[in-house]
Parts: sequence; C-alpha cells; structure tokens
Amino acid sequence: MDDYYYTCPFPKPGKPKKKRPQNGYKDKPSRRCWYCGRDYAERHEVYGGPFREISIEMGFQVDVCPEHHRMLHSNGDAWAKVENQKWRMYYQNKWENEQIADGMDPEEARDRWILMMGRNYL
Ligand SMILES: [Zn+2]
Ligand SMILES: [Zn+2]
Repeated sequence: MDDYYYTCPFPKPGKPKKKRPQNGYKDKPSRRCWYCGRDYAERHEVYGGPFREISIEMGFQVDVCPEHHRMLHSNGDAWAKVENQKWRMYYQNKWENEQIADGMDPEEARDRWILMMGRNYL
C-alpha cells in the first residue's frame, strides 16, 4: 500500500465520467493555491488545448490563485516555463507508474501515454 495518496494534495485520477467534464472552475473557499496558499483557488489543467478535457477526466490539474493561473497560462517567463514543464512531467510520471504498479510493462505504459496525450514529456 502506497501512502502517497494520503499525503498528495491532488485527487487520484478517477475513471472518466459520462457527463461532459467540468473543471470545477467554481471557486471553493477550501481550494488553495499550490504556490502561495491563497484560498478560492482556480483549477488549472496541466495539459491544455486538445488535451484539456482529458486532463479534467484524469485529474491532471493543479489549484492556483488567479495571479499564478495567469502566469502559468502566459508561459512568458522562466518560472512559468519551468513550472508548466514540471507539472507535465509530474503527471506523466505518476500516470505511468500507476499503470506499471497495475502490472503494465513500462514500455507499454509509455506508448499508451503518448497515444493518449500526444507526446512524451519525460
Ligand atoms: Zn488554467
Ligand atoms: Zn498563488
């Protein structure tokens, strides 16, 4: 038993839902920015564009305040570039490790990731 999920601030990626996914944009008092801890954070999808919906389905998300959210989307400075890359690597690595823990061959896990998300971030 891995105690990762007891300490990780993010929900374990769930099964895709039938309903069209919502990203939970509606702010919640208990939702805090990953970076600065401000509450009423927004939910940011780590993979955007055509991969935004699957990010919602799989929980590839991070809660951020409007200011940090804007910075991530602008991708305009070194901080944002590093952070965007870091989250994309984090969730790919996490997803692949979950498949491997379920008995999947590591190469197959990598192939399936690329099929699902379009590219390898690692
Ligand atoms: Zn966002
Ligand atoms: Zn913030």
